[in-house]
Order: sequence, then structure tokens, then C-alpha cells
Amino acid sequence: MKTLAPGSTIGMLGGGQLGRMMALAAAELGFKVHVFTNKIDGPTEQVCNAVTHADYDDKKALLEFANKVDVVTYEFENIPVETVNVLTGVINVFPNAKVLEVSQDRLTEKKFINDLGIETAPFKDVSTLEEAEEALKDIGYPAVLKTRRLGYDGKGQAIVKNEDDLSSAWKQLNNDSIIIEGFIPFDIEVSVVAARGQDGEVVCFSPVENNHKNHILDLSIAPAQVEDEILNDAIDKATKIINELNYVGVLTVEFFVSKDGPLLRVNEIAPRVHNSGHWTIEACPTSQFEQHIRAVCGLPLGCVKFSGEARMTNLIGDDIFQYYELLKEKGASVHHYGKNESRPGRKMGHVTRLFPSIG
Ligand code: AMP
Repeated sequence: MKTLAPGSTIGMLGGGQLGRMMALAAAELGFKVHVFTNKIDGPTEQVCNAVTHADYDDKKALLEFANKVDVVTYEFENIPVETVNVLTGVINVFPNAKVLEVSQDRLTEKKFINDLGIETAPFKDVSTLEEAEEALKDIGYPAVLKTRRLGYDGKGQAIVKNEDDLSSAWKQLNNDSIIIEGFIPFDIEVSVVAARGQDGEVVCFSPVENNHKNHILDLSIAPAQVEDEILNDAIDKATKIINELNYVGVLTVEFFVSKDGPLLRVNEIAPRVHNSGHWTIEACPTSQFEQHIRAVCGLPLGCVKFSGEARMTNLIGDDIFQYYELLKEKGASVHHYGKNESRPGRKMGHVTRLFPSIG
């Protein structure tokens, strides 16, 4: 293990709310954070020790940044692989670049998961409308068209219910690198937030049930309300994935749970702390953010035991105007990400409630 002493500086690529909550956890453990971001006044830089504003392809700025920090990690998955490769030449970067290569392309990601013997939705990659028509003969309707790269929170996606929908969905995505997935009539969506230390130890948080509104996570309930066998199977699958990637840090695996066909199918992997793990701040001795910091600093992973129930609700867009009301609610833990402008669909904060209530 490459153990870092308190007082060392963690370099953070990306400056959003996930970086902010990691920086706060790092401070509690005695570490400093230097953020590298291409945006001004993001949530992370408001709570960290130093900031570099530069583009992710600015090699000179990256090397100067590497000189000032003791390890590098990242808080979003669309960091260019080349950025991580530049840094890996001169400093330890956790998680490694391999997971970015796998998870940034939905096709590579699904093949990687299937190669491990884990199910996903049936899929085909296509690059023309004609190929899409042909693929849909196998996959059937309804189906979901997704851009292979850079999709999130439902962006870069279109559902096709029947043949008549296809050409408008194709036009809407306006992309020639598309994956078509069979639509899974899932009962619920579940995620496993897993951590792996530098010594290979794997610790998973209790699986969470996730409800979306307009394709954006709205509510996470821990533990997920499904049978123990399903929860244990989800944990086993997440463990297999994190080990295969030789991963260090926190990684999240999202699953569809369906009584129709295979019980568990992986939807996607997020190589980072995750929105569905925010409840761990209040509910577990070690939060997902602290766990990630522990892993990248070569420290032992912490305890993630939890009893009762936790519910985390996102504050999206104008929901943040409930801020003062929520602060009056006994037992509600309110988090504001420090973003000064609310926009539809923008994650502005969240609130966690524990049951039985501690209010
Ligand atoms: P994604 O960006 O792939 O995580 O998709 C966002 C959301 O769209 C998921 O959380 C699901 O609610 C829904 N979704 C995506 N793919 C499928 C699918 N193949 N079948 C059913 N629902 C899907």
C-alpha cells in the first residue's frame, strides 16, 4: 500500500458536488485537496485548499498540478483517458485509466460485463438508420437508442416504441455511434456502491433502490426493498466487476431487477462515488466519500454497517427553494452544493432522512 500521511494533498480532477463532498471527507481525515477543473467557482473549489483552472488537455498545467499533489483521483467519468494517461506517467492515479476506457463507451462497457458472465439488456451497436432497422428485427420493440459516449441522466437517449418512432428518434440523437438496447420492464432499479482498497479488500454498502423522475435520480432508499438473495447477488456481481478492473476507490454498479428474464442485469458502471450513495454520510460510520479518500490514500477501508432505513431525496432545480423549510424539519439532513444558479434538471443539493427518525 502507498499510504499517505495526513497533511498530504489529494489532486482532484473535476470540480462538482461529488468532489466537494470528497474534499469535506478528506479534510476530516486531515488531508488537503487541490482541484483541477475547467469551470470557475464550482462546488469543489469552494471547500478545498487550492485550485487549478485549465482544460483537461492542457499538458503543461496537468504536469504542474501533478508536481503539487501526492496522489490524483477524479470525480466524474468523462475525464479524457489521455488526461489520466499524462498524469499516470508521473504520479499515482486512482482509479486507473482502464475503467475510464471501459465505462466511457456503452458498447465496451456492456461487452466487458457480459464477458464476466453478468447479464445486461440485449444490445447491438449501429451507425446508420438502416442498420438500426435491421437490429430492431432481433431486439424487438420497445427499445432504447443511446449514444455510445457522453450520455447521462437520460441525455443522448430515446425510446422507440414501434417502427414509426425510429426515424424521429434517430434524428433526435443525431449521432452515428449508437447502441440499441432492449427495453427492460424492470420492477425496480438497484445500485451497489462498492469500494476496493489498495490491498484488494472489497467493502460494499447496503444496496439501494433508486427512483427516477424525468430520467434523473429523485429518491434513493436504503436498504433496497427486495429479497436478500437478490441483494447478495448484486453485491457478488459488483465485487466481481471491481476486482476484475483492479480498481482502487469507490465504484457504483446500477442494476435493473426484473421478474421477467434474468433477475439482475447491469445497466451501467460509474467509476466514482455516486448520487445513490449520499445517504451514507449520515447513516454509516464511514461514508462513500470517506471510503474513497481512504482507498486512494492507501488507508484501511472503514466500516459501512447500517441499520434502519435511509431515504435520500435530490433537490433538483427549483427544489432548492425548499431549503429554509427543510432546515426546520427535525431529523432532515440538508446539503446545499453551493451552486448559485438553479436550472431545470440541475442537481442543487439533497436531503437525507433516517428511520426510525432521529428528529
Ligand atoms: P442510463 O443513462 O443508461 O443510466 O439510463 C437512464 C435511465 O433510463 C435508467 O436509470 C432507466 O430508468 C432508464 N433506462 C435506460 N436503459 C433502459 C433499458 N434498456 N430498459 C428500461 N429502462 C431503461
